[in-house]
Amino acid sequence: MGVLYHSTRSKSEPVTASQAILKGLSEDGGLFVPDHIPALDRSLRELSEMDYRQTAYEVMKLFLTDFTEEELKSCIERAYDSKFDTDVIAPLAEAGGAYYLELFHGATIAFKDMALSILPHLMITAAKKNQADNEIVILTATSGDTGKAALAGFADVEGTKIIVFYPKDGVSPVQEKQMVTQKGANTLVVGIHGNFDDAQTGVKKLFADRELAAELAEKGYQFSSANSINIGRLVPQICYYVYAYAALLREGRIQDGEQINVVVPTGNFGNILAAFYAKNMGLPVGKLICASNENKVLYDFFRTGTYDRNREFVLTASPSMDILISSNLERLIYRIAGNDADRNGELMAALTGNGKYEISAQMRSELEDFYGNYASEEETAAEIERLYRECGYVIDTHTAVASVVYGKYRQETEDDAKTVIASTASPFKFARSVMKAIDEKYDAKTDFELIDELSSLAGVKVPKAVEEIRTAPVLHNRQCQVGEMKDTVREFLNL
Ligand SMILES: *Cc1c(COP(=O)(O)O)cnc(C)c1O
Repeated sequence: MGVLYHSTRSKSEPVTASQAILKGLSEDGGLFVPDHIPALDRSLRELSEMDYRQTAYEVMKLFLTDFTEEELKSCIERAYDSKFDTDVIAPLAEAGGAYYLELFHGATIAFKDMALSILPHLMITAAKKNQADNEIVILTATSGDTGKAALAGFADVEGTKIIVFYPKDGVSPVQEKQMVTQKGANTLVVGIHGNFDDAQTGVKKLFADRELAAELAEKGYQFSSANSINIGRLVPQICYYVYAYAALLREGRIQDGEQINVVVPTGNFGNILAAFYAKNMGLPVGKLICASNENKVLYDFFRTGTYDRNREFVLTASPSMDILISSNLERLIYRIAGNDADRNGELMAALTGNGKYEISAQMRSELEDFYGNYASEEETAAEIERLYRECGYVIDTHTAVASVVYGKYRQETEDDAKTVIASTASPFKFARSVMKAIDEKYDAKTDFELIDELSSLAGVKVPKAVEEIRTAPVLHNRQCQVGEMKDTVREFLNL
């Protein structure tokens, strides 16, 4: 049975997977959700004999049901190739009693590559399938990692343009350098004077702007999204959870059917939602452990049932998680509201209006798969140091947040099920915070000195993505106020 997608905010006509990918966001401002979660149709044993590409096909074919086998396999082959520095694509590293699923071996050394290396191919295929002749303009807000991964994926892709807005003072030096050195005549990178939520809210507003949509259509353009609000981002993220389970089974580390826990350092709630979908496909997953940094709005939500963004926005050493409005939570809210678009719409309107909403006791009872907690900045730094000292394994700040929260979970519950921690970025991307955590003395060094020190200390070669930006010229230096985002877009597209 084919899977169709409909909006979380209205009962408008469902669309196919390829249409949902093309649109990105529904016209009513809602997110596209699958009308049901398909069950895995391969046994875990069969999956354990597959490589990453084969696994990805087995998962994605169940969601993207209007893509042909040939189309999907071609997208997969082009995405998961030598852009990754390992054939395994997503290796597991055992350290300190957990399995770190390294999702940072792609072109921009963060987990966003897992989905953004395939999204451009899915989108172009989707455009062909739907005879869309408009040029696609990818409009993206980034907390640091999506921006570069999307730029790398869409640069010089015919029939597309890409515009990235990032918080000028809210990303790491490596993240910023990666973005502003991006080549490609179809790319625009803009630093905004605001935080990630401002960027994301601004982008969502542009999507909903009918006047702008009309101007775009007249010039032969249409917007789409590379953020995890696009279902084409979410579906490829399900694959690595299935792959990780299958790898543990292949290596004899778990029994067939044994439940594992998954820990995810969370910002926009996309990565952990993918794990939840994997569980609902029948993957034996016990708890979904949602780890936050000091922007702990999700921890408070799981604890109290109230989502409240009215609080100070904290700039942390894990900037890709500095988010107070976790967009993808809406997909979960819709579901626990009994797939009720009206109810979900009311809650989202409350979030826009008052900055908060409260879910019912009935809805809360549907959240038992989840456990939420958070890590302070001190705990995060201490965890990097501990894991390095005890195991010689160096993790980045985001992964460290997850690692701290996993420790808290174990202490609270004594649940000793095998656990996979999503390792979402290479430590090289956050070298200063990582090295400072290991020893304060490193703070005196320059960013690239630190990168070299990190390389010798971890025994890991400096990734190509970092080598490239050492000498790359800056090609983008635009900045704008939040209120100027629309005009910036207009100007770039000559509207
Ligand atoms: C984006 C990102 C996250 C958060 O992922 P979400 O899907 O937004 O929850 C965590 N860590 C890193 C390194 C990221 O780039």
